[in-house]
Amino acid sequence: MEKIVILTGAGISAESGLGTFRDEGGLWSQHRIEDVATPEGFARDPALVQGFYNARRVQAAQAQPNEAHRALARLQRDWPGEVVIVTQNVDGLHEAGGASDVLHMHGTLAGALCASCGHRWTAPDQMQVGEPCPSCGAPAGRPDVVWFGEMPYFMDQIYDHLAEASIFAAIGTSGQVYPAAAFVHEAIAAGARTVELNLDPSAVVSSFDETRFGPASETVPAWVDELLGNR
Ligand SMILES: [Zn+2]
Repeated sequence: MEKIVILTGAGISAESGLGTFRDEGGLWSQHRIEDVATPEGFARDPALVQGFYNARRVQAAQAQPNEAHRALARLQRDWPGEVVIVTQNVDGLHEAGGASDVLHMHGTLAGALCASCGHRWTAPDQMQVGEPCPSCGAPAGRPDVVWFGEMPYFMDQIYDHLAEASIFAAIGTSGQVYPAAAFVHEAIAAGARTVELNLDPSAVVSSFDETRFGPASETVPAWVDELLGNR
């Protein structure tokens, strides 16, 4: 059975009202990456960082999955082989759209992580500076999101999946953040067919066999329909 591995980025959630990062007006134009998305930034100004993620957590909780999220859940349900969804997004919209077993390589806004002992728990809506760890008691609670300079999660699993992929799709990713930007090369080495679905070409678009440009809510359902023979 053919295995499909899908990488998704901020572009798939943009139509759900969640901001993308690198586009004009995106989150990174309002905040410096080094201030809100690095361990050093957190150490320097924990109130700014907790406030930034608290706002994003509220925004993500209010967002609704769109047709692209729902189409991938449908593919996962109806495809005769395995469909692995790897996401760079820290929202829960894939799951809200019906997908299961999503690999959140950059963590999730729904989670809290103890910087002291590594314990994980469900984040409160508003995390405080010095949020106490329910396991060790250290005032070291932080968002369970992967910051720049930190190792993404599930990398061994993801590379194992890529090595077995027959089809690899990258959806709504900028192709500027490694290691995710290099997944296409792992998939090519495994002999997979590769397709990029994006609003605009990514930084690694020339690596893909096939490209489809447009809003994710249109390109993704159309691609899924073709795969499932529902054209
Ligand atoms: Zn702890």
